Amino acid sequence: MIIDCHGHFTTAPAQVAKFRTEQIAAFQRTGIAPPAAPPAVTDDEIRAGIDQNQLRIMRERGIDMTIFSTKAVAMDHHMGNEDTNVTWARFNNELIHRVCKLYPDHFVGVCQLPQARGVAPGARVIAELERCVNEFGFIGANLNPDPTGGHWSDPPLWDKKWWYPLYEKMVELDVPAMIHVSGSCNPHFNAVATHYINGDTTAFVQFMTSDIFKDFPTLKFIIPHGGGAAPYHWGRYRGIAQDMGLPPLEEKVLKNVFFDTCVYHQPGIDLLLRVLPTKNILFASETVGAVQGIDPLTNFYYDDTKRYIDASPSADTQQKQQMFARNALGVYPRLRAHPRCQNC
Ligand SMILES: [Zn+2]
Repeated sequence: MIIDCHGHFTTAPAQVAKFRTEQIAAFQRTGIAPPAAPPAVTDDEIRAGIDQNQLRIMRERGIDMTIFSTKAVAMDHHMGNEDTNVTWARFNNELIHRVCKLYPDHFVGVCQLPQARGVAPGARVIAELERCVNEFGFIGANLNPDPTGGHWSDPPLWDKKWWYPLYEKMVELDVPAMIHVSGSCNPHFNAVATHYINGDTTAFVQFMTSDIFKDFPTLKFIIPHGGGAAPYHWGRYRGIAQDMGLPPLEEKVLKNVFFDTCVYHQPGIDLLLRVLPTKNILFASETVGAVQGIDPLTNFYYDDTKRYIDASPSADTQQKQQMFARNALGVYPRLRAHPRCQNC
């Protein structure tokens, strides 16, 4: 069994993105969310997006199941307001739910939260999380640590008033969140090349330097894209924690924080697998995602991360099996109820 914990519906039909463009244009004109309802999407249009893309690639690479969510760069929390973003998140989450219903053996849902710039994630964010988990059977959420799109002007993840109500609900529902920024409206930061990696690294350090996991001992986060800069700079973070008088990272962070394998070259995967404990690594490829080309050095797709793990001398077969499936069941407890995961 091989579970990819990080995939997005980047191949939704064109009317989905068009709806958002028109919704935001209307909001910018009027200052209020337009009343227009999202467009219809047929099952055939959903299948056309999935069959020849994510599902074909999963079959070619031997991936059994993907933990699936909306297109991350299009979550757009920095655009519009809470009203527009509730409509947008609900529409997108319903599409993910339909993908999961059409392909129950292959996709399990994770929800987009209707966060908005300058708005604490309150009742409406929590209501959408509850709807997705309780009604759709989703097993987690994507949490944007910077809904301002690269300006970082909202409070950090340890701000109790801002974030703790959402954490309380995550603990109650027993769902983890993947830290996942969206687009960047700061011209300094390319969205997927800089802003994503900044977001991952920033979240790691905020976890390391705060009491979030003292306050929520069972709360779990996944830091994607291989954990940003954290594994490469593990010595720096261990040293900073030590200088600050903090407990070792194993105690402070690694009971609650997990890292995916969206690192698109062999030496990067070898380092990740060598530096972090096996129990903290979850297989992922983020396909079809930010990097879609073929590496001329290997003649394989950059995002074919299973290939790097298979070839890595940094872990043995048993450790690799743990990263490919068993760790996901520990981090996403609701995944254990899935029929395909009974004997993982
Ligand atoms: Zn992603």
